[in-house]
Amino acid sequence: MDTRLIELLVCPVCKGPLHRLPQGQMLICRADRLGFPIRDGIPVMLESEAVALDEQDQPLPAAAPTPPAHPHEA
Ligand SMILES: [Zn+2]
Repeated sequence: MDTRLIELLVCPVCKGPLHRLPQGQMLICRADRLGFPIRDGIPVMLESEAVALDEQDQPLPAAAPTPPAHPHEA
């Protein structure tokens, strides 16, 4: 896609600059630690679609409930 378009995009939450992950189809805001998915080459700039990121800019499994560590040890 047109990389100049990405340069024009800012975070919808803080209006700060976004960074594109080199390995992923995602734009991230380091200030908010949010990642905005890129679907079909189009960045989804919706806070409701953003995913939380950890310190390594990896998406946190926030959508999945934390599984019990030892489900068979009740
Ligand atoms: Zn932001």
